[in-house]
Amino acid sequence: MRPIQMVDLKQQYLHIKDEVDTAIQSVLNSSVFIGGKAVQDFSENLAAWTGSRHVIPCANGTDALQIAMMALGLEPGDEVITPSFTYIATTEVVALLRLKPVFVEVDSRTYCMDPDSLERAITPRTRAIVPVHLYGQSAPMEEILAIARRHGLPVVEDNAQAIGARYAFSNGEVRQTGTMGTIGTTSFFPSKNLGCYGDGGAIFTQDDVLADRIRMIANHGQRIRYHHDIVGCNSRLDAIQAAILDVKLKRLDAYIEARRRAAAAYDTAFAGEERIVTPYVSTRSTHVYHQYTLQLEGVDRDDLQQYLADRSIPSMIYYPVPAHRQRMFTDLGAGGEDLPVTDRLTGRVVSLPIHTEMEPEQTEAIVSAVVDFIHKK
Ligand SMILES: *Cc1c(COP(=O)(O)O)cnc(C)c1O
Repeated sequence: MRPIQMVDLKQQYLHIKDEVDTAIQSVLNSSVFIGGKAVQDFSENLAAWTGSRHVIPCANGTDALQIAMMALGLEPGDEVITPSFTYIATTEVVALLRLKPVFVEVDSRTYCMDPDSLERAITPRTRAIVPVHLYGQSAPMEEILAIARRHGLPVVEDNAQAIGARYAFSNGEVRQTGTMGTIGTTSFFPSKNLGCYGDGGAIFTQDDVLADRIRMIANHGQRIRYHHDIVGCNSRLDAIQAAILDVKLKRLDAYIEARRRAAAAYDTAFAGEERIVTPYVSTRSTHVYHQYTLQLEGVDRDDLQQYLADRSIPSMIYYPVPAHRQRMFTDLGAGGEDLPVTDRLTGRVVSLPIHTEMEPEQTEAIVSAVVDFIHKK
């Protein structure tokens, strides 16, 4: 059996080596390293694949969030509502832009923004809502968009973890995550479901005016070279990364299927275990299993992680400290909200290895180690 890793990028590369190497070589041959055909082609292909009118590539998923919030024209002190249970990038850019992060609860089963908590957090100073499609399934966008519409607020979807997930509205309309809100963002960090071999990100919108503004912001605020109309930044996806992403985009459906097979094997194996809560999948969303995250009931998580590590099985806590308790924010006078669901989840989640190259014998080894540990106690 191959060594078990949280994500096996090496094995994935070996399966697509010829095509990736050729794609990289063709960028080297062209020597167009920034912009050009590779970036253009990938952006168009991703737009077609996601059903998004516009895809604007950028340097990483954190920049994507920052540029999205800059494009909305928010003013210092404006309140931006995000879940506390997320990766730091979602909330950090809010503070970076001198906006005020307001943290809300997630649903304890889906780990995504709780619409009731969102509704309660809205004040006259609220200017944007940033749901996160955490672990690979969609936040409840119908409810979130209805609240946003009622209050006239834009919605930025952080889709770094759920690219390819589909959400069904009650009228039967089905949309991909990242394409439902005012703006969507994603990351191509290597371990993401669509990852490159370095850093990368993209911004999605269905609005022509916003798309133009986003393109300008990502390119020093210029539409015409050396004519800078607004303050922007420098955020580009490079051509080599775009060429690699194009190779992997063709396989993204198959990659998602591979993750689902691994998740299904875990689900089946853990089904009878009372002290393990397996991922709940909302009836409205599909799940692309960026993470396979369990909740443990009455199990010492540190001991379990150590037990697994002793058997060369990695596991991770996403995320051990929620945003509302991060010094970064509490030192700014933000955070400190009372979020019991988030605090409870933070103490009991554990993510197991899941990736596109999982072998049945690896899932079996992980399952039996977890089950052995739980029954020993
Ligand atoms: C990975 C991630 C990001 C940031 O992406 P980078 O490319 O690392 O900047 C933002 N939000 C979430 C939820 C993520 O998982």
